[in-house]
Amino acid sequence: MLETTITGSLPKPSWLAKPGVLWAPWALEGAALEEAQRDAVLVAMKEQEAAGIDIVTDGEQTRQHFVHGFLASLSGIDFNKRKVIGIRADRYTAECPTVTGPIRRTRSVHKDGVAFAVQHTAHKFKFTLPGPMTIADTIADEHYGDRVQLAHALAEALNEEALGLERCGVHTIQFDEPAFNVYLDDVREWGIAALERAAQGLTCTTAVHICYGYGIKANIDWKDTLGGEWRQYEKTFPHLAASKIDQVSLECMHSHVPASLMGLLKGKDVHVGVIDVASNSIETPEEVAGVLREAMKYVPVERLLASTNCGMAPMPREVAYGKLRAIAGGAALLRKELGIKTA
Ligand code: ZN
Repeated sequence: MLETTITGSLPKPSWLAKPGVLWAPWALEGAALEEAQRDAVLVAMKEQEAAGIDIVTDGEQTRQHFVHGFLASLSGIDFNKRKVIGIRADRYTAECPTVTGPIRRTRSVHKDGVAFAVQHTAHKFKFTLPGPMTIADTIADEHYGDRVQLAHALAEALNEEALGLERCGVHTIQFDEPAFNVYLDDVREWGIAALERAAQGLTCTTAVHICYGYGIKANIDWKDTLGGEWRQYEKTFPHLAASKIDQVSLECMHSHVPASLMGLLKGKDVHVGVIDVASNSIETPEEVAGVLREAMKYVPVERLLASTNCGMAPMPREVAYGKLRAIAGGAALLRKELGIKTA
């Protein structure tokens, strides 16, 4: 009860990629890069374990970009044909590879890395993949000409990958769908169906992460336009509650999301974002416990997990590690208060 986790990413060590930069290029290449990535995964997991995080991730140490990393395993995508496109309804631009033919998965991109990570932790292991709608929104398309068809082709490829990762002993597979917070009508019309296709046949725990984005300027500026109450989740949560996905990961700390919206996720486990990833000030355990207490008014405590608002990739390492300890400290405080014994 009140297990702790993180959304997914942690900062990369300076010997792997330039610190403080989102999507920074690798500092090494070839076999030296692969070795350094494995070392970085060990550090990321060890830091989570030492901080008291129950469900650990690989800190996303083996991918440069949370979407484009997965695309490396697919045919039909030309990485040399890069186009600058507006994404998340033109909130910002990104240089993206182009879909030039039918999408097929040619190999697993994450299997070896996940098998390695699972072997090196005694904790539950969670792995994150980008969701089909978010990928479709982060790629230039010259082949399908139809976002729904593109998303379904991506969902089939994601599903093959996810089933392979499950066989490696992954406890949770989480699909990251920040686009769910932007295209609210599309979520209902086809987004949930594409997400369920990506998760089809999985027997491990499945989760979806929906947030307001990394703590970068374009996202902070966007949040300033959303007004005093952020009610995007209000349209999406009822559809997710009716979906086959087990868990929903959401942004909460310092956001203007009314906690009552969590009540719309009946029957789902909820990863409450108790850590602000847009601020370098480290939350206290008491602040973390405060957010969880608020969530408890709307979600039964046995369905609550404590997590971060989003990934911590662009943060200073010491700040991110301090925030890991705050999550665990806050959950421990509340467990003690409620008389919940830890396993
Ligand atoms: Zn996020």
